[in-house]
Parts: sequence; structure tokens; C-alpha cells
Amino acid sequence: MPMSSPFQGRLYPALNEIAEHFGTPFHIYDETGIRETGRQLLEAFRHLEPFREYYAVKALPNLRILEIMQDLGFGFDCSSIPELVLARMAGGRGEAIMFTSNNTTPEEFAAAQTEGGSIINLDDISLVDKLAPFPELVSFRYNPGPRRTGNAIIGNPVESKYGVSHDQIVAAYQMAIERGARRFGLHTMIASNELDHRNIVETTRMILDIAAWVGRSTGIQFEFVNIGGGIGIPYQPEQPAFNLGALADEVEGLFRDFRAANGYQPGLSMECGRFMTGPHGVLVTRAINHKSIYREYIGVDACMSALMRPAMYGAYHHITVPGRNNGTPHHTVDVVGALCENNDKFAVQRTLPQIRESDLVVIHDTGAHGHAMGFNYNGRLQPKELLLKTDGTVELIRREQDLEDYLATQTFDPDQMRPQRLSAGA
Ligand SMILES: *Cc1c(COP(=O)(O)O)cnc(C)c1O
Repeated sequence: MPMSSPFQGRLYPALNEIAEHFGTPFHIYDETGIRETGRQLLEAFRHLEPFREYYAVKALPNLRILEIMQDLGFGFDCSSIPELVLARMAGGRGEAIMFTSNNTTPEEFAAAQTEGGSIINLDDISLVDKLAPFPELVSFRYNPGPRRTGNAIIGNPVESKYGVSHDQIVAAYQMAIERGARRFGLHTMIASNELDHRNIVETTRMILDIAAWVGRSTGIQFEFVNIGGGIGIPYQPEQPAFNLGALADEVEGLFRDFRAANGYQPGLSMECGRFMTGPHGVLVTRAINHKSIYREYIGVDACMSALMRPAMYGAYHHITVPGRNNGTPHHTVDVVGALCENNDKFAVQRTLPQIRESDLVVIHDTGAHGHAMGFNYNGRLQPKELLLKTDGTVELIRREQDLEDYLATQTFDPDQMRPQRLSAGA
């Protein structure tokens, strides 16, 4: 089920009023739903002490949302300096921040090591000697390569740029020990939007096997293993929800087996982004044009600068038209924005209720990797973000971009030079 029905129940009666007050388009997020999902996650893994969720900041990098995560006791998974800054602004400190970058610069490592230092999750063995001072606590991201091929859903880790290869992983930890590391984590993430809990169970089994093997080879006892994010949400109405309880039960069993075989038990960490906020946000846009040529087009006042997933991945986002769901004849339309790219479509050949100009159109499940992926191609500005709070108030948590934002990087102190090697008169 896209967009939980309690969220719909909270939002729809107030939607016209909200749209009139703030103006369309906007993403609106549901604080109550986010908190409930957070509590479900903590509840599911309550037997795995210590369990920690590091919310993947990239999914919804809004300060007010991160403050909710902080309030839930979550940490933050960051991969850039701006994400680190945001996580710290929300109250994330020291080891509550996991820095999982790749193709990292010295400046990024330096930023990750300031202010109490975050947990550095190294993406490659060559980065060991680019990290100075070497931290006491370090983690490596493991890439299983051909050991996990053949699974259509997971894709092919051999083609993935992330992580340390199987053949390098023991050496990576040995190098870390030589450079003074004394506390260790182990990370992997090989699935995205995974709806079948069994694939995450298999990933957990794999990473615990690697932890045992690295432990035998180096004497390391891991403080935590981190199975990454990647828990999926049902974007399509007929898709079943991810079975979090089954995942937790099976993962608990694997950790018990690990303890029996290795004499200790690491903590479990996760970096869920999509699962935490994806279903708890929608993009609200208004129908402004109806075009009838070879196909029927409903033009709305948002475009792919507000939500790129359909254009980028061909992703399905469910659409509803509040107040038009019953009785009216249905028609098959493309729901489009105004960007001069033909893939600027929120829906292609979708059967929807009859939509009239000025109707509100609700695009579901935009709470993760939605606004965050926004861009300004074609001079298309990004919309505002609102938060429907648990106390019933609606708060503007990010304003829309304006022309000044668009021009900001073109107004600065001029800087000119004449290259010496340029031939005179050129
Ligand atoms: C993107 C990402 C996540 C979050 O992924 P979701 O699919 O949103 O759960 C977590 N960890 C890392 C390292 C990522 O790159």
C-alpha cells in the first residue's frame, strides 16, 4: 500500500486549506508516521543490543526531519561534508555519525574527523594511508563481488564501485591494526529498495561469515556489523509491505549462532533511509493544463525537479486525486511537468479519475530520494517542504527556491587571470 491510509486520513481533510495557505507544489511529510516507523524498527530489533539505526541523510536531508531522527535516538549516515554539517546541526555527535563515503577527498576525511570524530567507514584499502591521524575505531565496506551474483534483485556487485573486495578485506583490517586501530566495525550494502526480507537475511549471513573469518585471521572482535540500508517500500498498490518482524527474527537467530561459534556478539547497525521516510511523504501539485493530442496529458505545476525517480529509474509512484476518486469516469493519461525533456512525466499511461484543471494531484511516497534529488535544469526551481506535525499543525520546513537562489552562483567577486602560456594576441 503506497502512502499509509492513516497519513491519508490526517492529510486529505485539511489538504485544500494547506494548499491554499502555502501554495502548490509542495512535499509534505507526516511526523506521526515517521515516528511510528522509527519505533517499529527499534521494537523489531530490541533483542539485538546494541542496535543502532543511522538514518541515511541523503534520503531526506531536511534539518527538521533529522531532528525527529535524533529524537528517536538514531544516528546519521553521511557521505559528504554538507551532510555531516546537517547531521551535526540536528544534534548528531561523535560516533552517532557514520561517514560512509566513496571516492573520498582528504578534506572530507578531515571534516569527518573533527568535532569528536564520526565513525569512518572506509570504502577502499588504498584509503587507509589517506587517513591521518588513523582513528581508533574504523569500519570497512565489504563488496562480495561474484559471491553474490545470480540474484536478479540485488544486481551484480562485480560491477559496483563500492567497497573492499573479498581478497583485500583481511589485509585491510591488518593495515588498520598496524596503524593503531583498536575498535572495529564491518559494513556492507548490496541491495536497494529490497522488498524480500530473505535477501537481507542472506546479506546478514554473509557479513557475519566475513566477520568470523576476518576475526579468525586477525584476532579482531567486531563492535558492530552494519548491514546498510536498502529495505524497500511498496510503491505499487499490489506490493506487500516489507516483513520487518521476519527479518528481525531471522537476523537474531544468525547473531545467536555467531555468538555460539565465536564467543562474542557484535552490535547490529543499519542505515535505512527509504524505509524510514519514503511512505511518509507526498508531493502535492495542482493540475494546470489538459492537453489532448495523440495521448491525453495532464499538466501539473510540479516537474521532475521536485521528483526525479520516475524519469531516472522509470519508478512507479502511485497517484490519487482527492475528492475525485469515486463515481467519475476514469481516463488514461500521462501526468507531466513543464521541463523540456519528454521523460518529465510523473505517470505514463495511467488510469486515473477524471482530472479537471485546478484539482490537487497527490503523488505518493516521495519522502525519500524525492526532494533530495532535486535539480535546476531548464531553470526549474525546487518546491517547498512542509511537515504535518503530530500536534496537527503544518510547518514550512523549507521554502521553495526563488530566482535569487537560481542566480546565487553567478553573482560573486569577479576572478580573472591571463594564463602566461597563452600566446599573445590569442
Ligand atoms: C543510499 C544509502 C543508504 C540508504 O539507502 P535506502 O535505500 O534509502 O535505505 C544507506 N547507506 C548507504 C551507504 C547508502 O549509500
